[in-house]
Amino acid sequence: MGPCIPGREGAAEGVNGEAKELLETRNFEASPKAIGDLKAGVVDERLVAALQAVTEEHRICVDAFKEGHYFLPGVPDGPFIPDSYGDAGGLPNSHYYGRAVDVRRVNGKPVHGNGTDPDMLDIGELISGIPPQERPDQIIGPESWAKTLGRSSEEGWILDEDQLKLHEDHIHIGYIRNAGTWNAR
Ligand SMILES: [Zn+2]
Repeated sequence: MGPCIPGREGAAEGVNGEAKELLETRNFEASPKAIGDLKAGVVDERLVAALQAVTEEHRICVDAFKEGHYFLPGVPDGPFIPDSYGDAGGLPNSHYYGRAVDVRRVNGKPVHGNGTDPDMLDIGELISGIPPQERPDQIIGPESWAKTLGRSSEEGWILDEDQLKLHEDHIHIGYIRNAGTWNAR
């Protein structure tokens, strides 16, 4: 992945609202493309709010929202997940709509190999604390992370084996729909 550029005062000239605040948060680090998406206003406000909740406690590095996200190397993403991307193939691509984010590092530690790290687990707990109708309903991470947290699909976790395997090196936080969530609790 590319560099993690930390947020700073003045980093969001001409940007308004929540996206501006996030871009000025030191704990929020992102790739140039992810910063570009925030500045362009293509990132879902609920997602921005969820990231704010997380960055109040931890430093995270965001790899991609929409731009620079690839399911298949070298193949530009479209509105649907490619058929070859596990059982989720054919479903709408939440990244394409600015409703999803991939987090690669937490407090400087790569997600890969650190699924049971206390900081990594705390990220899961913080997301769990968001009320169901605002909480992401597409929460996916390494298998060890998901199993240790012990959350359910009713709470927004995606727990399919093949999806867990595809997320060994990043935490994906997304919203399936444009408005509302599937979370039942
Ligand atoms: Zn993702």
